[in-house]
Formats: sequence, structure tokens, C-alpha cells
Amino acid sequence: MASVVDAHIHLSENAQDELIPYAEANRLDYDMGELLRLMQENEIERGLLLSPPLKGGVPLPNEKVLELSRRSNGVLSPIFTVEPAAEDVERAVALAQTNKEVRGFKIRLGYLRVFADDQVYDPLYAYAESQSLPVMFHTGDTATSTGSLEHSHPLTLDRLANGRPGLRVVICHFGNPWIQDVAELIYKHPNVYADISGLAVGGSKYTEGYVDFLAEQLTHAIYYAGGAGKVIFGTDYPVSTPALALGLVRKLRVDDADRGAILAGNARRLFRL
Ligand SMILES: [Zn+2]
Repeated sequence: MASVVDAHIHLSENAQDELIPYAEANRLDYDMGELLRLMQENEIERGLLLSPPLKGGVPLPNEKVLELSRRSNGVLSPIFTVEPAAEDVERAVALAQTNKEVRGFKIRLGYLRVFADDQVYDPLYAYAESQSLPVMFHTGDTATSTGSLEHSHPLTLDRLANGRPGLRVVICHFGNPWIQDVAELIYKHPNVYADISGLAVGGSKYTEGYVDFLAEQLTHAIYYAGGAGKVIFGTDYPVSTPALALGLVRKLRVDDADRGAILAGNARRLFRL
């Protein structure tokens, strides 16, 4: 399982980070030293770094994500989070233009009550398409009880993909619990991908059964889509750990070529890593 790519990692080294409770539940220190060590131990060669949310609901600034990526000795590449405001979109595009190591963008649906096809994002999508940079979308369960499932439902991305067939879209968390809906989206749209990050989380007495259930659903989704050519591995560190996330991939009933594509090949191609 050499040279895995983890396409969904968070880190801030900031005390206001809202993911700290997840880190504690997973007994993680949640810092750069630990992250790089865990990656090495699990043969994860490259990773994409995404902003975690901070207290007050704002994401860690993209400048900070850039700075953290630069401290990783070429292991982590930045993804910029873009909030639904014209100034934010403008700032993120400008930052991407001057920092070519950026590998894509991330939009949070469900927390901000915005749909993916909102015109506020038009300049971002135009830029992303022109540079072949993927846009990742949080979908599925929201980490807070006040999130909007209507906005985080993955089927809302069908409208975006219909309108912008050239835009490379990544549906995060495979839309869990709407996994079969995501199977249809990756089957239907040539440029729609899905990551399997943040699915295998511990802490329940049924964790083992739940991971089996997830593996079963993902296996069926891959069969439906006709292959795993657009399924991408991610941990969502610190929400999940490399060990749990790799355990989930091991349980998928797919051939070695597909397992390799999920663990590295698909992400390398899509994000040019
Ligand atoms: Zn995440």
C-alpha cells in the first residue's frame, strides 16, 4: 500500500479550532509533528490541507493554510476554503493566482445555508475551470445540530454539474448518509468525484458494525458506478485517523487496481500531485 494520498486533512495549531473535540475523542495531539509522523507510519506520501472551522463559525484563514503547508516539507498542498461572499471569492481567487501550489478549493454547504450553484461562486468556478482546479464540497451530515441538511444534500450538486460540465467537483464524505445518491452523481457526471473522508469514526459501541455497513454501501456504490475511477481516499484528520480510514478501504470488495486508484492514483491525477 505504498505511497497513499490523503486528499482531506485539517490542521490549524490554533486553540479556537472546532475540531479539537474530535482530536480528543481520537486521542490525537492534532499538530504538525503528529500528522507527519502518522502519515509516514501509514505510508501516506502526500496530503491536501483544508481549513478547519474556528470558534465563531469562520474557517482558518487561507494564508494560514498556505503557511502550514509550507512547513510540511512538500508533503501537504493547500486547498483554499471559500465562503459565500463576493469579497471572499475575490480574495481566494487572487490568493490562488499568486500561490500556484494551491491544488483546489473547498466550499462548505449546510453550515452557511448556501447552494453550490449560487451565483456568488461564479467567478470562483470560472477560475477553477480555467486552471483545472477541483472544487470540493462538504456534503451530508453536518457536524453541528443546527446545520441545514437541505443545503448539504449531495443531490443539490446535480444542478451545478449540469450547468458547468467542465468543472471538476469533489463530493466530500461521499454525501453520507446519501451514499447511493452520490453513486448516481459520479456515474452520471464525467467530472464529479467523491472522497470517502471522515466516514470511519470511532467512539460508538457499534463502531465495528458501522464500518462494515459503510464498506458495504461504498462497495455497492462503486459497483453501481462501474468502477472506482472517481473515488478518492481521505482521512478528515482529526475527525478520523489514518488507521480507521485505511481499515475502511481494506474492507471494500474491489480489485487491487481499484484499491490502488482509490488510495492514490485518482487523487494524483485529479489534483496533479
Ligand atoms: Zn473535513
